[in-house]
Amino acid sequence: MELIIATGNKGKVREYKDIFEPLGFQVFSQKEMNIDLDVEETGTTFEENALLKAKAVYDLTGKCVISDDSGLQVEALHGEPGIYSARYKGLETEHERRLAVLEGLKDSENRRARFICCICLIDEAGVPHLFKGIWNGTIAEKEEGDEGFGYDPIFISEDSNGKTTASLPISFKETFSHRAKAVKALTDYLKEEHAYDKE
Ligand code: IMP
Repeated sequence: MELIIATGNKGKVREYKDIFEPLGFQVFSQKEMNIDLDVEETGTTFEENALLKAKAVYDLTGKCVISDDSGLQVEALHGEPGIYSARYKGLETEHERRLAVLEGLKDSENRRARFICCICLIDEAGVPHLFKGIWNGTIAEKEEGDEGFGYDPIFISEDSNGKTTASLPISFKETFSHRAKAVKALTDYLKEEHAYDKE
């Protein structure tokens, strides 16, 4: 079965190809399908934004589509940066956005936070399916580590023994992260759904 990844991000395309090709899917990026789309994320939740992106590509192709939306929620900041994680406070760089979170928490004892990843699959019949992964943790006092991206240098997950995600090997995220959990829910669903396809 053909599957289109609704993103312009090459890294995401590579990751999803590595996951779905071994399951027997023919995976294509938007670019490979000659789809030039940059969907505005006007939703108010991760779910809505993932659905918007997948639906735009499904409406053009009628093929099975996957998209995702993710971000960091900080409890004492009322869930911010949330869906605005990639453009928090309009700041240009990831470093500036991390400093804005640290600054927002400077007088706070509550440093609880979580990453969310929401994946939307639209199947060939046009039915959307949502899969969510949550990774709980806390925000560090300062940036630490060079691995990963985004908020990794200030995120200490509940399973990392006090180390920031950016201080740990990237393989750590492949096992524990919000994205890994959402992908696991999706692949479990696909394996179940297509269990009899090859018989
Ligand atoms: P998007 O899902 O590609 O729109 O990413 C949203 C933003 O959330 C990214 O630009 C990062 O700032 C943040 N983010 C999402 N996942 C991670 C992660 O695994 N580590 C660090 N930051 C993340």
